[in-house]
Amino acid sequence: MKFDLTPLLRPHIANLQPYTSARDEYTGKEGIFLDANENPYGSVTDEDHNRYPDPYQLDLKQEIAKIKEVKSSQIFLGNGSDEAIDLLFRAFCNPGKDNVILLPPTYGMYEVSAGINDVETRKIPLTADFQLQPDLILNAVDENTKIIFVCSPNNPSGNKVNREDILKLLREFNGLVVVDEAYIDFSDEPSFTTLLSEYGNLLVMQTFSKAWGLASLRLGMAFASKKMIKILNRIKPPYNISGLTQQTVLAAIRNVDKVNVMIADILQEREYLKKEMSQLDFVEKIHPSHANFLLVKIPNAGHVYDDLIEEKIIVRNRSKVQLCEECLRISVGTRAENDAFIQALKKIYTESFNQ
Ligand SMILES: *Cc1c(COP(=O)(O)O)cnc(C)c1O
Repeated sequence: MKFDLTPLLRPHIANLQPYTSARDEYTGKEGIFLDANENPYGSVTDEDHNRYPDPYQLDLKQEIAKIKEVKSSQIFLGNGSDEAIDLLFRAFCNPGKDNVILLPPTYGMYEVSAGINDVETRKIPLTADFQLQPDLILNAVDENTKIIFVCSPNNPSGNKVNREDILKLLREFNGLVVVDEAYIDFSDEPSFTTLLSEYGNLLVMQTFSKAWGLASLRLGMAFASKKMIKILNRIKPPYNISGLTQQTVLAAIRNVDKVNVMIADILQEREYLKKEMSQLDFVEKIHPSHANFLLVKIPNAGHVYDDLIEEKIIVRNRSKVQLCEECLRISVGTRAENDAFIQALKKIYTESFNQ
């Protein structure tokens, strides 16, 4: 099936005249710049930030292209992955008319973004072991279904999603399949980016917020066909990635060895945390994780969450989430943090629940 993006696009977006910034109209780097109403003297801060940044982040994309083994033209950068999610709704989903398919329990932003954009969500829950139900998903599709959001490794469950099931959606759904790979760096699963040339309806999201330790900078990546990236570039705010972010991430990529060391440390700590928790007899289930967190089922999870806060240890309470009943989501910390968590958990169970 040859996928054609054009019919999927909202008509007014197809006809939109995008904003052209000063840095669009003149892209040279040298000259006397009197075109963008910037401050010519520099900045109030020690370092200068007075010039508008590259709106298409070309230097940064060139480096990302190398480490991700994609073409520069297949990369979109957003102010966090959240920006890419929002732009997808704005580009493809007509408010009050179109719908998207979500696969709960999953990342909450898809639903929030759908709500902001007044787009219906159709929910097909994952199975008890957090895998897709491809036939049910495809059955829920109608002519107004624009996007299916798949998260793999999934948040909050941590597992990787069966590759064959995602491929089935890519083959049989004539709309956009988003594969959110925010946690791919912690998994042995290959990225779906290798399939970009095969599937025109594939968009892969990754982020600098997790493995790279750059959550505060807000930099999310989307990888897709050149045509799709062009659409996102047309509708994004002109200077959506700050100059400081572009420079800092460029420097980070030149230091790619460090991210590999950090990932190895986090994986080691994930196994440690898993081993320590598996020795506590009140722990009912530790879900398999391909991410930097563990979803753990324990009795009285809601109370334990509150008691942990008393000990100044903050985890995520997922106990009211469908299929995550009585579960806490615990991010992998440093050895000292993980030990403090384990100690606090033991104390809570001995004191509060006499176990
Ligand atoms: C953390 C996370 C992201 C990253 O979001 P940013 O906006 O890039 O920080 C994306 N998707 C999922 C599933 C996440 O858990």
